Amino acid sequence: MRRKLAAGNWKMHGLAADLAEAEAVARDHPRPGCDVLICPPATLVARAVDRLSGGPVAVGGQDCHKTEKGAHTGDVSAAMLADAGATHVIVGHSERRADHGETDADVAAKATAAHAAGLIAIICLGETEAQRDAGETLAVVAAQLAGSLPEGATAANTVIAYEPVWAIGTGRTPTLEQIAEVHTALRERLRALLPSEADGVRLLYGGSVKPGNAAEIFAVADVDGALVGGASLKAADFGAIIAALDGAPAA
Ligand code: PEP
Repeated sequence: MRRKLAAGNWKMHGLAADLAEAEAVARDHPRPGCDVLICPPATLVARAVDRLSGGPVAVGGQDCHKTEKGAHTGDVSAAMLADAGATHVIVGHSERRADHGETDADVAAKATAAHAAGLIAIICLGETEAQRDAGETLAVVAAQLAGSLPEGATAANTVIAYEPVWAIGTGRTPTLEQIAEVHTALRERLRALLPSEADGVRLLYGGSVKPGNAAEIFAVADVDGALVGGASLKAADFGAIIAALDGAPAA
């Protein structure tokens, strides 16, 4: 059985005062039935760990460099995130792929670095609107999965997040049938790529998940949770999503 995961990606939002929202998630929305993760900006990771330690909310990074240390001004390594107390790191978010030209190979290298540091890598993939309109969605996500999964990926150290680029931050979501189609295809591809691990790897959906649509998305087969951007910034919204996940059928 796969343990469900609600992961919040704060992106470049959040000052120290906003950690009160993370504390409110931990205090007001404890859900022993699922894992909850908040990925604040790198500047807040250590403070978030201090404020949330011992509670039900884990802390992750939003990106890491593919090497452990070196002359890479402004970058953060997986080892540094782990040292700050993070347990997870998002890699290959479409905003990183678009803004920083990250390739599947870069994403795989970052996931390898995450694993070496003892972090769970949340590997993001998803099609653009043009790719969907061209009927290329399944081919695109299959290629991204094959190219972004590192050697040594397991159900314990890797989570996959399907995030259609056109659904991120737009308020638009695929139909439930479209989500099911992609998640089923990803599970099948995982069975080919990681035969002994595939059924344990969690598949998250991400892209405009809100309290109002969370329950129906979480009822889709092979959706094991969500990667949530905007709606993770406020405890009430993220808490409602976590509650919907906790109430969803077991995977
Ligand atoms: C994201 O950035 O991963 C995301 C899913 O954002 P939003 O929920 O705001 O669409």
